[in-house]
Amino acid sequence: MPAASRETCRHCRHASYAHVDGECLARDQEGTCGCVRFDAVQRKIRQRTWLVTVAFFEKNRWTPDVTLRVQASTMGGAALKALRQAKRERTTRRHIQQIRVTLVPVPKA
Ligand SMILES: [Zn+2]
Ligand SMILES: [Zn+2]
Repeated sequence: MPAASRETCRHCRHASYAHVDGECLARDQEGTCGCVRFDAVQRKIRQRTWLVTVAFFEKNRWTPDVTLRVQASTMGGAALKALRQAKRERTTRRHIQQIRVTLVPVPKA
C-alpha cells in the first residue's frame, strides 16, 4: 500500500502507524485509544471510462465528430483529456472558433 504512513483510521482518526497489530496505541487523556480495527479512510480516486465526442467549429463548419474513450475520475477531467487528444490528432491548423464536447460515462461491465 503506498504512503501507508500517511493514512488515517476511519474509526478513530489516528494514523495508521499508531495501530500496532491491529490495535490502536495512540494515547489521549483517557488512555489508549483501544480501536482494534484499522480501516484506512478511502481516499482513492475512482477512475471511470468516458466516451467523449469532440467536434471543432472551424471555417464556418463543424468538423466530423471524433469519439474518444478516456479514463478520468471527473467529467471535467475527461473533457480536458479528450480535448487535448483531439487537438493533437487534428490534421489542420485552422483556428478553432468553437468546441463541442459531449460526455457519456461508460457503465461498468
Ligand atoms: Zn485510534
Ligand atoms: Zn483506529
